[in-house]
Amino acid sequence: MPADSVFPRLEPLLPRVQKPIQYVGGELNSTVKDWDAAAVRWALMYPDAYEVGLPNQGVMILYEVLNEVADVLAERTYAVWPDMEKLMREHSVPQFTVDAHRPVKAFDVFGVSFSTELGYTNLLNALDLAGIPLEAADRTEDDPIVLIGGHASFNPEPIADFIDAAVVGDGEQAVLQITDVIRAWKAEGRPGGRDELLFRLAVTGGVYVPRFYDVDYLEDGRIQRVAPNRSGVPWRVSKHTVMDLDEWPYPKQPLVPLAETVHERMSVEIFRGCTRGCRFCQAGMITRPVRERSITGIGEMVEKGLKATGFEEVGLLSLSSADHTEIGEVAKGLADRYTEDKIGLSLPSTRVDAFNIDLANELTRNGRRSGLTFAPEGGSERMRKVINKMVSEEDLIRTVATAYGNGWRQVKLYFMCGLPTETDEDVLQIAEMAKKVIAKGREVSGSRDIRCTVSIGGFVPKPHTPFQWAPQLDAKTTDERLQKLRDVIRADRQYGKSIGFRYHDGKPGIVEGLLSRGDRRVGKIIRAVWEDGGRFDGWSEHFSFDRWMKSAEKALADEPVDVDWYTTRERDWNEVLPWDHLDSGLDKDWLWEDWQDALDEVEVEDCRWTPCFDCGVCPQMQTEIQIGPTGQKLLPLSVKQPSGQGV
Ligand code: SF4
Repeated sequence: MPADSVFPRLEPLLPRVQKPIQYVGGELNSTVKDWDAAAVRWALMYPDAYEVGLPNQGVMILYEVLNEVADVLAERTYAVWPDMEKLMREHSVPQFTVDAHRPVKAFDVFGVSFSTELGYTNLLNALDLAGIPLEAADRTEDDPIVLIGGHASFNPEPIADFIDAAVVGDGEQAVLQITDVIRAWKAEGRPGGRDELLFRLAVTGGVYVPRFYDVDYLEDGRIQRVAPNRSGVPWRVSKHTVMDLDEWPYPKQPLVPLAETVHERMSVEIFRGCTRGCRFCQAGMITRPVRERSITGIGEMVEKGLKATGFEEVGLLSLSSADHTEIGEVAKGLADRYTEDKIGLSLPSTRVDAFNIDLANELTRNGRRSGLTFAPEGGSERMRKVINKMVSEEDLIRTVATAYGNGWRQVKLYFMCGLPTETDEDVLQIAEMAKKVIAKGREVSGSRDIRCTVSIGGFVPKPHTPFQWAPQLDAKTTDERLQKLRDVIRADRQYGKSIGFRYHDGKPGIVEGLLSRGDRRVGKIIRAVWEDGGRFDGWSEHFSFDRWMKSAEKALADEPVDVDWYTTRERDWNEVLPWDHLDSGLDKDWLWEDWQDALDEVEVEDCRWTPCFDCGVCPQMQTEIQIGPTGQKLLPLSVKQPSGQGV
C-alpha cells in the first residue's frame, strides 16, 4: 500500500470540523522519520479523541522507545470525532497518522493501547476507516498486524476476532522484541506469510495470538477449556515486566499538545505496581511487583522533561504516589529546586494514610492550593474491610482535620457503589462520613465556608482480581441506592448544603462489566453496536445503553448466555474463566483465598512492609519488591540560580 501523505485530501476538510488542530500533528517533540529508511513501521493508537489520547503515557513512551531505534519508525493516530469521520467517508480519506498523515493500513503494525474496554467500538471504527478488514481471519499480506496492549489486554477475548495479537504487561521491552521478530521475518523475504509471522510471535511466549487457541463451551454456556491448536504455542501467555525503571527513563521528550488536552503537565512515573492489595483494583493487581524509580532518576527526568517541554506543572504518577518510600524528599527537593520557576507539583492519587501535611505543603508551595482528593472507596468500616482498603474513619477525620487546619477548604472523597456484599446501609454511611468531615472542618478552621464533595462510581468486577468471581450489582439497584444516598444528603439541614454529590448512573458500568469479563461470544455484540453507530462509549453524550442491550439480545439469541450471565452472575471456583490462559503472575488459588477473605471481612497487609503472603508474582518474575529508601539526594545535579541558569 502506498504510504503517501493523505494531507492534500485532508486539508480541505479541516475548516469543516470541530477542533481541526487535533488532526494536524507537528507537536513539539513529535517525530517524522524517513519511510523508506525504516525496516519496521508502527502506527500507535490511543482509541479515544486526541485530547484524551495525546497525554497517555503508555503511547508516548512506546512512540519514543521505538523511534529511538535507527531503522524503526513510529507514528500516532487517535479516534476521529463523528464530524470528521463523516467527511472522511465522503471523501475517501483513510484513518491516518497525525505525524506524517500516512494511511494506517500502510504500516507493519497497528498497535492499540486500551486503558478501558469502552474503547472497543473505536477500534472497529478505526479499522474500518483504515480499510483493514474487521475480522483478523479476513486480513491479507497487505494488512498490518493488529496488536493490542494496555490493561484491557489482560482479557482481550471479547475482541479476539478483531485483533491479530495482544501483549500482556509492560510494553517497553516487548515492542522491541516484537520489532526484532518482524525485522528478521521481513529480511528473510516474509517466509510463510502473515501466518508464519504470527506463529513466530506466539512461540516467544510473550505475545498472545488468539487464532492459535480454540475455546470449547459447555452446554450451560460456561467455558470447558481453552487450548492451543498449534504445536509450539504455549498453553499460557506470560506478562511482560520491566524490572528496573531507571533503565527506562521515558518519556524523555514528552509531547506538548497543540490542542487543549485533559492533562497539560509533564508526568514522571515514580513507581510501577502496587501491593496495597485493594481487592477491586485491577491496576494494582496486574502491575505487581512494586518497582520504584530512584530519587535521582526522578530528578533527572523532571529536569530534562521540563527543559524539553516548557510545562509549568509536574505530575508524579503512580497508582498511589504518596507510597514512594522517599516521596517527602522528592517533593521537597523539587519544590526547592523550582521555587524560582513556580513549577507546580501534583500527585494524582493520595491515600488517606499516606498523606501528611508536610507533603501537602511541599506540593502546593510553587503552585495553586486546589482541593484535596482522598479515596476511602467504601462508605462503612465493614465495606472497607471487604475491599481491603485499610483506612479507618478515625484516620480520615484526622487527615482532613489537618488539611482544613492548614488552609484547605475543599476536600473531595471518592467512593464506589455496588461492591460485593454491599447493602443500602453501607452506602448511606457515606453521608455520615461526609457530615463528620464538614463538622470537623468547621471546628478546626472556625469557618462555615467548608466543602466536601462526594463522588461515586459504580463498581465493575475485573479479571485477575479477587473480585473476578463476584456478582456485579445491577444498574437499577445501583441507581436506587445512590438516589437514597442523595436524598439523605439533601435532607440534612445542618450539613447538606456543604456537601457536593456527584455520581454516574449504573448503566455504563454494566456494559463495562460485560466487556471486562466477557469471552469471544461478546465480539458479536461489539460489532453489532459499532454497525449501529456506536462510537466513543466512554463519553456519556455518545453512550447508548439501549443500543448495547438491543445488540446483545440479537447477538446472543442462539447462545445459552445473556448480559446478566456475564455481569450479575457469581462464578464458582471451578469455572474456567475466559482469561485463565493469560498469566498475570498472580496465583489463582491465592486470588480465590483473598476472595474468601473478603467475604469473611478479613484484611491483608501490604507486602511492601510486611512479609510476603504468596500472591505468586515475585517468584514467577524471579524478583522481589524493589523499594528504597536509598538515602540518596534528589538532585545532585545542579541548583537553579535566580538567573534561571543551572550551575
Ligand atoms: S509475591 Fe509476595 S512480596 Fe511479591 S507481590 Fe506477591 S505477596 Fe508481595
